[in-house]
Amino acid sequence: MRNTNRCLIFRLLPVLPTLSFWVPVNADSFLSNTLIRKNQVQSVLEHQPIDALECENTKPTGPIDITMCDYETVESVNRDLFSNIHDLVKMPFFKYFQVDLYRDCPFWDDYGSCNNPGCAITTVDESEVPMKWRASALSKVDALVEDRHELPGCYYRDSDFCWLDDNTEGDYYDLTLIPERFTGYSGPEAHRIWRTIYEENCFGLSEFSLMDGKTPGAVTLPDTMTDVLREDGADSDQCLEKRVYYKVISGLHASISTHICAEYLNQTTGEWGPNLHCFVNRIASHPERLQYIYFNTVLLLRAVARLGPYLSAYDYCSTGSRQDDAETKEKLLNVISIAQTAGKFDESVLFRGENANVLKEEFKVHFRNVTRIMDCVGCDKCRLWGKIQTTGIATALKVLFELDEKTLDPQRNANLLQRAEVVALINTLHRFSESLEAVNEFRQIWADLNSTESEQLILDAEKAAIPIPHSPYHDVQQPSGLFAVARSRVMSVIQACKMSAMECVTKLYSLLDRMSSILQPSRKDSGPGAYEEL
Ligand code: FAD
Repeated sequence: MRNTNRCLIFRLLPVLPTLSFWVPVNADSFLSNTLIRKNQVQSVLEHQPIDALECENTKPTGPIDITMCDYETVESVNRDLFSNIHDLVKMPFFKYFQVDLYRDCPFWDDYGSCNNPGCAITTVDESEVPMKWRASALSKVDALVEDRHELPGCYYRDSDFCWLDDNTEGDYYDLTLIPERFTGYSGPEAHRIWRTIYEENCFGLSEFSLMDGKTPGAVTLPDTMTDVLREDGADSDQCLEKRVYYKVISGLHASISTHICAEYLNQTTGEWGPNLHCFVNRIASHPERLQYIYFNTVLLLRAVARLGPYLSAYDYCSTGSRQDDAETKEKLLNVISIAQTAGKFDESVLFRGENANVLKEEFKVHFRNVTRIMDCVGCDKCRLWGKIQTTGIATALKVLFELDEKTLDPQRNANLLQRAEVVALINTLHRFSESLEAVNEFRQIWADLNSTESEQLILDAEKAAIPIPHSPYHDVQQPSGLFAVARSRVMSVIQACKMSAMECVTKLYSLLDRMSSILQPSRKDSGPGAYEEL
């Protein structure tokens, strides 16, 4: 099947689950092996979370794909995890984050901005940040052995799954003052970002060769992706890594949506609070999205578990208060211990086989692109949390797929991770853990509804799921994914050249201008740069 068709399938993917109808028969659990396509809202909201530790699997069995743990295990540790990590992220080391939020979007010009007060954020003055973690001090200890691929203001090393700030620009933020919640950022601009991110899943031109090769450890997935790829004729030999990419992104999207619904602004009363209607529409009527929140949680826990010795040896001091330092260490050790129990993701089944390295490089390129796409998010608060979470997930992916035990040894590599990576990883795990907590709150709210109210919610969700002919997706005429961007621009030049010489020259000039702007990440600086895929 041609790549474009495959991309179309991925684009349709999000709406497939919504085409099912609610059939009032006995509810299965959304944890069961096959994806629920009936009674799904009830199966999510009437599920009783398990509180006994049950992770005894020694090899990956599911139902959380590629993990040795199942959903129950995550549930059984989440209360404890959340109470520790919720305190941990309030500690000075984890609450200050430096980032350049105002780098230009490298993919399109009209990325707009969210004028909603909810999108605004405030910076903190550098003097509030302990000296040791200021950019000037950090750059001194950032002695990395690997070669950096640099663009003005940011870089990546070969092992990185994201672009990292080089801390030469950017502001400091106190994350405890900027909760991830409803901001009002929505519509075609927000949809374009999500669509672009999902379309990075179409792994470029070498996809065909990858699909031809033997792929590693075939695992049957209980989700829509399986069906879609089966339509693709790939059956169980389809590429596991691409499905993992999709799950990571969809899980991130679902977690962000859960936070939006959990702290929603009622625009009539001006009050903040959980919005069950929002949660039913966005998550509960798509149980696989909740499954992917669990999936990402286990992936992040596994990274924290592997990093245990490194994180334990990390220097969190210089907070100015000895009590803070001791508390940070204590909470962190608790989180590591929980991660060692429940973080049973089996990274060894991925990136195996003859195309492993090519596939891993592609995976990295795509994920790095996702971190660049964050520069196009038109809402400051969403961009901040988007950057933190994509950096956190990228750090976890690096820890799982790039770093061996020797490299992770803190004695050998004390400066293996940037402070920003450690802070992002822990804050991202906190986001996912908090999402799972929020789901429990929604279960409670659901339990308190009478039957008329709950049936009405489901009816509303069904109505919301009916695709509207003129989707906002189509309002934005921007191609997405770098190949798509390049292809569409070249096509437009060819068209123009067929029509008139003048038009041809104008378009060609505009294309060259555009290419040069993509090659430079920021118009704040001009300097050498190369975009990976062009
Ligand atoms: P969207 O969430 O925009 O989703 C678009 C389409 O994607 C949906 O119609 C559905 O078909 C599909 N889809 C939805 N969820 C999934 C999933 N999990 N898996 C697969 N497909 C899915 N808004 C805030 O209020 N606060 C924030 O902090 C915030 N942060 C954001 C961060 C980023 C990086 C981005 C891109 C957006 C952020 N937004 C935030 C906007 C928010 O994510 C939504 O885009 C917005 O609320 C509009 O929601 P929607 O219901 O139209 O669907």
